[in-house]
Amino acid sequence: MSYYKMSARDRIIVIGAGSTGSSVAYNLKRATHSEVVLIDKGGVASGMTSFSTAIVRTHYSNEVVAKMAFESRKFFEANRETLRFYKTGMVTVVPSALRKRMEDNVDMLRRLGIREEILEVKEASKMFPWLNFDADEGVSYEPDSGYADPVSTANFFARKAMDLGVKFLREEVHRIENTQGQAKIVLRNGKEISGASVILCTNIWTNKLLSQSGFAKGDLLPLKVSPHPVVIYKRPNGIAGLRPVVNDLANRDYYKPEGESLLLGGNLRSELDEADVDPDKPPPPSTVQLYRRLFTKDFEQDTSHG
Ligand SMILES: Cc1cc2nc3c(=O)[nH]c(=O)nc-3n(C[C@H](O)[C@H](O)[C@H](O)COP(=O)(O)OP(=O)(O)OC[C@H]3O[C@@H](n4cnc5c(N)ncnc54)[C@H](O)[C@@H]3O)c2cc1C
Repeated sequence: MSYYKMSARDRIIVIGAGSTGSSVAYNLKRATHSEVVLIDKGGVASGMTSFSTAIVRTHYSNEVVAKMAFESRKFFEANRETLRFYKTGMVTVVPSALRKRMEDNVDMLRRLGIREEILEVKEASKMFPWLNFDADEGVSYEPDSGYADPVSTANFFARKAMDLGVKFLREEVHRIENTQGQAKIVLRNGKEISGASVILCTNIWTNKLLSQSGFAKGDLLPLKVSPHPVVIYKRPNGIAGLRPVVNDLANRDYYKPEGESLLLGGNLRSELDEADVDPDKPPPPSTVQLYRRLFTKDFEQDTSHG
């Protein structure tokens, strides 16, 4: 019998095989007796997952999020080689006005069992001589955080999902329909698959798919698709090798080492959020100005895009 004609009973369709959809498909298959189908138009990790700097950290101000991040990091540690998790440590910097809040935040994280400490600026400058700190800034350091490889992470889940029997289809979903309580998806090639439910893990393409499925503008999700430029720096020889991630909350910038000799830098400033771009037609990379956190002038700069 053709796969497309199989019974829809107990079938769950997961659309999108980035880090989210691959994990959802794997965990659904593990936790239920349902047949699970995972579909992606570009293959596993072909969306934003492949652009992620994949910083794995536990410095969060929200306790629930911090707990979740702490649990997730254990997973990265347990699968360190496959997920290419590098425990580089992470430095967080806040402006002087937020120092007290940072101290309270670190207290909360420590109560959860997370290792993080407040550093005096003098101490931080000694530990990280290529970073430029203002005398009154707040600095903290978490030694167990770092970064992973986002593509390996999504593939890890997708492979495990398929080992359990999840079916993967490399197809584009054109439309979702709900007929008499049953979900149906129509692929770009015209074929149809029915299921008990459909889970959208389509990230920035979600509203596009909902529009194609007949949802009115007012019923779309309140999402904006913003470009996120990333600067690639060539590190000077003096700071090659494993170096900590820098979470510069004072300037809303971040820096992540890439391999032995590169450094990726991005920023989360709000002016970039004004844009709402077509996810299939991203604008050309723009120049991005990161603040003077990097001390040395020896960094060579290029701009990429996410
Ligand atoms: C530059 C950059 C840096 C980032 N840095 C970090 C970081 O340091 N730490 C962190 O935690 N997060 C970071 N993120 C965020 C992180 O990358 C995303 O949150 C995460 O990868 C999203 O995964 P996802 O599976 O939800 O989405 P995606 O990876 O975008 O997956 C969605 C998938 O849906 C598929 N799809 C969409 N529409 C259809 C359709 N109609 N039919 C079939 N398939 C479809 C797409 O092909 C795609 O593969 C960063 C993101 C960017 C862009």
